[in-house]
Amino acid sequence: MLEQNLKIIHERLARAAHKRGASLRDITLVAVTKTVREEQIMQAFTLGVRHFGENRVQEALPKIAALPYQLNWHFIGHLQTNKVKQVVEHFSLIQSLDRFKLAGALQQEGEKQERTVNVLLQVNIGAEESKHGFAVEEAEDALRAVADYSRLRVQGLMAIAPYLHNPEELRPYFRRLRQIYETVNIPGVEMRYLSMGMTNDFEVAVEEGSNMVRLGTALFGER
Ligand SMILES: *Cc1c(COP(=O)(O)O)cnc(C)c1O
Repeated sequence: MLEQNLKIIHERLARAAHKRGASLRDITLVAVTKTVREEQIMQAFTLGVRHFGENRVQEALPKIAALPYQLNWHFIGHLQTNKVKQVVEHFSLIQSLDRFKLAGALQQEGEKQERTVNVLLQVNIGAEESKHGFAVEEAEDALRAVADYSRLRVQGLMAIAPYLHNPEELRPYFRRLRQIYETVNIPGVEMRYLSMGMTNDFEVAVEEGSNMVRLGTALFGER
């Protein structure tokens, strides 16, 4: 089932990418493995998936310890500052830098561990109360501020779109983030990843410029 799902995802990604003059190679697939068992994660790895996303530290750590070191782990959830130590140690990219306080805590931890911490700035594109992240209007100032932290390396932007039954209606939100992604020019800030698109909306997100999709359900089935 996983193999078939992955094949379908690749076809859908390729089609969406072509619509904007890009190709499958330009899109990084992050397999979201919350609630997914290690055997299934291993199977995805065997099929060529290299990036994996978890949103809970406690759930992720035993899996990370049990699986081969070649897996790249992305932290994609709301991160409490008391858990930054483990996340800096075990994750290669923190996609959910959603507030200044967290930037400060990550900087401190990066100093302590003498590591560079790769992050994406999370932007609340739907301006939803229930979601974390910087407001669209404050994204650029936030990037400027985070660029001053010596241990943080900003590599792009991440967004969780509002849930809409018809993902076509999300185009203006995705477009807005892409516009920031493409126009921002801040020394020390690298715009390499535009992480948007989940099972419900990833084709629209890719058509609108995403180059990193985070898929759980489409790959592993319903949680
Ligand atoms: C769960 C989750 C996903 C994947 O969601 P699906 O709809 O299952 O593809 C992507 N991003 C984040 C931040 C998540 O928490």
